Amino acid sequence: MFFSMTGNQYLEMYQRSIDDPAGFWSEIAETFYWKQKWSPEEVCTENLDVTKGPIKIEWFKGGKTNICHNAVDRYVEAGDGAKIAMYWEGNEPDQDGKLTYSELLDKVCQLANYLKSVGVEKGDAVVIYLPMLMELPIAMLACARIGAVHSVVFAGFSADAIAQRITDCKPKVVITCNAVKRGQKLIPLKDIVDASLVESAKNGVTVGICLTYENQLAMKKEDTQWIAGRDVWWQDVVPNFPTRCDVEWVDAEDPLFLLYTSGSTGKPKGVLHTTGGYMVYAATTFKHAFDYKPTDIYWCTADCGWITGHSYVTYGPLLNGATVLVYEGAPNYPDPGRCWDIVDKYGVTIFYTAPTLIRSLMRDGSVYVDRYSRKSLRVLGSVGEPINPTAWRWFYNVVGDSRCPISDTWWQTETGGFMITPLPGAWPQKPGSATFPFFGVQPVIVDEKGREMTGECSGYLCIKKSWPGAFRTLYGDKDRYETTYFKPFSGYYFSGDGCRRDKDGYHWLTGRVDDVINASGHRIGTAEVESALVSHPKCAEAAVVGIDHEVKGQGIYAFVTLVDGVPYSDDLRKSLIMAVRSQIGAFAAPDKIHWAPGLPKTRSGKIMRRILRKIASRQLDELGDTSTLADPGVVDQLISLSDS
Ligand code: ATP
Ligand code: MG
Repeated sequence: MFFSMTGNQYLEMYQRSIDDPAGFWSEIAETFYWKQKWSPEEVCTENLDVTKGPIKIEWFKGGKTNICHNAVDRYVEAGDGAKIAMYWEGNEPDQDGKLTYSELLDKVCQLANYLKSVGVEKGDAVVIYLPMLMELPIAMLACARIGAVHSVVFAGFSADAIAQRITDCKPKVVITCNAVKRGQKLIPLKDIVDASLVESAKNGVTVGICLTYENQLAMKKEDTQWIAGRDVWWQDVVPNFPTRCDVEWVDAEDPLFLLYTSGSTGKPKGVLHTTGGYMVYAATTFKHAFDYKPTDIYWCTADCGWITGHSYVTYGPLLNGATVLVYEGAPNYPDPGRCWDIVDKYGVTIFYTAPTLIRSLMRDGSVYVDRYSRKSLRVLGSVGEPINPTAWRWFYNVVGDSRCPISDTWWQTETGGFMITPLPGAWPQKPGSATFPFFGVQPVIVDEKGREMTGECSGYLCIKKSWPGAFRTLYGDKDRYETTYFKPFSGYYFSGDGCRRDKDGYHWLTGRVDDVINASGHRIGTAEVESALVSHPKCAEAAVVGIDHEVKGQGIYAFVTLVDGVPYSDDLRKSLIMAVRSQIGAFAAPDKIHWAPGLPKTRSGKIMRRILRKIASRQLDELGDTSTLADPGVVDQLISLSDS
């Protein structure tokens, strides 16, 4: 198969991006439309060293642009208006829709005009609480068009979680829809928003308008609770506005959006991204990491409620003029073959998803995959957690028929775009390794004292120098911004993740550094033990945490979910421990295996180890904030199985 970039071309470009970042990124930025060019001496201004003054990152200062113009108008103006911008697949296999770039522009303009008509201005916040309807990216783009700052809240969060975010960013308008069906479950989104607005009003933040899209496939207008004066039906107002709306030219450093992190490690952080650098970075990473071609049909299973849905459902692909598939439903509804059904239906060429979904589909068995052709696929991608080599191989061999490279993209809400990722075909893959840095990114691995290590090594993953997609602050909390990311190791951005570099220079993410276990002096990354457990044919998923241990300092405590139908037994316990002993060594053997029918996960599908640590050490009254858990019921199940 033919891919655009060879390893040597990468090396050459990478070197240039490091030697001359201003020149490298300016050249790329020039391929976008700027109403006014940035000052050439201010391509990048930065200070990442707290000992030298406040942290500052600025890119393309003085430039004026608009990301919506670059993602939509630019393609319509170039004559590509008839190209499909978005396909939409609903919860049920017979529900679908599509929008061309011209139609998308019309819809974005109408909503933008409506928002302006109710007084939303440049710099105002708008909270969006929508499921994966096309109206979600439309709403993001409409805000960006008029310079409003969107804050998308994943439409699975509780009223309290929305209220927290509303209280924080004080939006003029909240955009939602009355309800959504996910699988067979009806979720009354508007009721949840109503409750959140009562809550935020108690905190002194009153929102004047709740723009509500009538999602007829899920709930009728008449069944929707309504507060006259505040609530407005989208369909009653938005279509009446003109399909032309001038864009607001904003400064490269004007805020584009505010988004909260997944909350895997504690209270979510309000990450703020600005316009110019983010635009250039999201577009460029998308193009190279997926080897994008204009004929591609691209599908990312992430929800726009997460950074992945911002950079790689909405902005990255549209900035490249791509055709994006937006899927509303659950990946295993009506059965675990749904993803491949969708791939065949639309001829999806690039498929980007998360390890949690790969592991769950793997557990359901290859039969569901084999039923479909999947011959259109050419590039696969993974994000969110380290992908266990066993899950990687299944994805590669079964889903991709051993012919599609996997881009295992390591990045964060904070980084705006990919940081360490393979480029398809450019170098040999190693299952489970995110491989090498993207252009302009200088990953360094430091020890506890912040000393850079070279060659084969393992330690704390930091980034030297800024990159255009870097976040600029934590909203309203500059202190936490500096303390969390820049104070641990002066001069560097600290990712919070552990990383190992092998003899060939490949990067292996080992999990969060807070989760690293120190057993008898051996520092053990959670990802490595989990991967060894998952390689056991009867283990579907595993999560490992450290507990106090009298002799070793810390012991290894493993929560294990078995493949469906496999009974718990002591023999199986022994054989799981053996799997770790033989693959890593006796020092990493779990001291305890705790059977887990399910694991506590964030709503973006990540395992929440901090809760597992509390369960493992029986500190049950200190479970902390569980509001970002997808299914809090799992916790009780685990507690009740503690002594089995
Ligand atoms: P919080 O910061 O609130 O605890 P979070 O870190 O889970 O939440 P995100 O920004 O959504 O929020 O996730 C980024 C993290 O996800 C990374 O720091 C890393 O731990 C993990 N991650 C993402 N992609 C990969 C990958 N390809 N390989 C390994 N880990 C990954
Ligand atoms: Mg994080």
